Amino acid sequence: MDFAWTAEHEAFRTKVRDFLAAHLPQDWPGASGNFDAGGYYTTDFARDFCPKLAAAGLLVPHWPKEYGGQGADAWHHWILNEEMFEAGEPRSYQYMSVNWAGPALIKFGTEAQKAEHLPRIAEGKLFYCQGFSEPNAGSDLASLRTSAKLENGRYRINGQKIWTSAASFADYCIVLARTGEGRKAITVLILPMDRPGIQVNVIKGFQGARAFHEVFFDEVEAGPEDILGEVGTGWDVVQAVMHNERVGAPRYTLTIRGLEEAVALLQAQGRFSDSAVRTRAARARVACEAARLQAYQIIDGRVKGLPPTAATSTTRYSMVMADKMVADFLGDYLGDELIRNVSPAMSAAYRRTGSTGVASGTAEVQLNLIARNMLGLPKE
Ligand SMILES: Cc1cc2nc3c(=O)[nH]c(=O)nc-3n(C[C@H](O)[C@H](O)[C@H](O)COP(=O)(O)OP(=O)(O)OC[C@H]3O[C@@H](n4cnc5c(N)ncnc54)[C@H](O)[C@@H]3O)c2cc1C
Repeated sequence: MDFAWTAEHEAFRTKVRDFLAAHLPQDWPGASGNFDAGGYYTTDFARDFCPKLAAAGLLVPHWPKEYGGQGADAWHHWILNEEMFEAGEPRSYQYMSVNWAGPALIKFGTEAQKAEHLPRIAEGKLFYCQGFSEPNAGSDLASLRTSAKLENGRYRINGQKIWTSAASFADYCIVLARTGEGRKAITVLILPMDRPGIQVNVIKGFQGARAFHEVFFDEVEAGPEDILGEVGTGWDVVQAVMHNERVGAPRYTLTIRGLEEAVALLQAQGRFSDSAVRTRAARARVACEAARLQAYQIIDGRVKGLPPTAATSTTRYSMVMADKMVADFLGDYLGDELIRNVSPAMSAAYRRTGSTGVASGTAEVQLNLIARNMLGLPKE
């Protein structure tokens, strides 16, 4: 990778920053519940903010022109992600719509599905949720039991999902269901959340007001028109989604913001001259920059049209470690300030660390993937 930002990329970043400065309210950090993407304030805000972002050409610049984008390269998408995430993700969970739901539809959708979904995503109007995990199928997703049984040309869906982010306000759920026996007989369906038989419960947790839900499917009817890709090819869709999701949110930007505010606080308190403190802060910052550079390598591959590799897992793992080093630093030196919530960015960085090593596949699962796909070690 021969890396330098072009004038076009720098101008794009400036445009995004100017837009954020003009549209984020003064009290955004506190009002958004320290950047809680699923909080009521943030989701309402996003429903107003995303159409404005779209109108300014800043929602899906990386999509092809025929689907409402500008055909810009993956760097534009990443710059946008970096700036949005650092600002506390004012798109709320619409970041999933533009990062992976839309691209999955572009890759696997029928013309009718594309016509139904893509224009509305590109206008900033749709939230999706991801119905993959189940109570007994997280890391081992292939053991999922939600079934879609074919009867007289229609499917009947029964089962339960869990940890589903955004489900109580999403417009559609991208559901993984079993359409046959065997680990591979899995199919992806896109179902509107108001389809009869779908019930959602919020699971309260410190990750945010509506970060987690249970979603129940009770005799939910679906047709072939609801299937994304072919029947039984769900893993192809999952692989594509996971690649975009694992290196999708540049978590290090908000983490660095939290770390910088921590350093400023420690300096103000006269505690930053301690060499042990400085060393810990420096190491944490270096870990964030390493995660950033690894992410840039992935984006470089996307720009060049290269197929995904195990580098997705090494990058995700680096993000996990960077988040953890910053959170440990915050906890060790600024625990009282975290409890008193003196800095929304610090609190958000700390809170989100709890999920980096679990969401999108746990850190241990990433290590397994690295062992198998990069180092060629046996599965056992
Ligand atoms: C913030 C957040 C948002 C989420 N959002 C969604 C969502 O929108 N949709 C969705 O479908 N899911 C979502 N999830 C769920 C997430 O995908 C799962 O929690 C994750 O895949 C792990 O599954 P599990 O919780 O069942 O844990 P388990 O798979 O039961 O794992 C428990 C522990 O065992 C370890 N472990 C398991 N298998 C292995 C192995 N083979 N080798 C080594 N260690 C192993 C794990 O690393 C972990 O430490 C979300 C999770 C979080 C934290």
